[in-house]
Amino acid sequence: MKKLIAGNWKMNGSLEANAALVGALLLDASVWACDVAVCVPSVYLAQVQALVQGSRLSLGAQDVSGQESGAFTGEVSATMLKDFGARYCIVGHSERRQYHQESDATVALKVQRALSVGVTPIVCVGETLAQREAGLTEEAVKRQLPAVVHTNGHYISEIVVAYEPVWAIGTGKTSSPQEAQQVHQLLRTQLQAASQHADRVRILYGGSMNASNAAALLAQPDIDGGLIGGAALQAAAFLSIVAAAS
Ligand code: PEP
Repeated sequence: MKKLIAGNWKMNGSLEANAALVGALLLDASVWACDVAVCVPSVYLAQVQALVQGSRLSLGAQDVSGQESGAFTGEVSATMLKDFGARYCIVGHSERRQYHQESDATVALKVQRALSVGVTPIVCVGETLAQREAGLTEEAVKRQLPAVVHTNGHYISEIVVAYEPVWAIGTGKTSSPQEAQQVHQLLRTQLQAASQHADRVRILYGGSMNASNAAALLAQPDIDGGLIGGAALQAAAFLSIVAAAS
């Protein structure tokens, strides 16, 4: 299956920096053999929508409301993301789970809202350091998807999953390719139990993926791409991961 490399800019960027970064990425687009996206802060969706117009670079958001519309101050709806050309939306990133107390049930509703308007949710799961050290990686990861599966039924084959061990995000530490593959395989099995089309769900790895470790991670049979934080802010680093996936 075609791999997907998605950048998560997090709360970084400016009008000037975004234009320079996207401009540098697009110079390389003719050689890409995988799908490539940038997930930008909501306020920059319009700017980046215009910058990527007609190109092979897809636009994504970093969060979406679990509500359709109405009195939810500060929230951004799935319809609004669609309005601005978002193809993807990260949902349930560990920073949202940690700093905004997002539960698996909330994540499931957000996934439902995104799918209802044709925005592909990139659903993040992953264990914390404490869970890993207690030998609970598989249990922790297995517990996160059932709410999403239950709420979204057979539409589950339309999502992207990102396995992001929380201890690897922004720390420079990565899962070994074999350890990551083991969790990806577990997620695949979980998805297969929910949908006969689970084999087309892309399962990305995220957590300090960079130019030097990307090729080995992406060579694993169930690693179908990457969700990239820090390295997505520098064109050269991001493009070398895209090249490793191509
Ligand atoms: C992320 O935040 O999704 C991520 C993977 O970050 P980093 O690549 O910086 O670890």
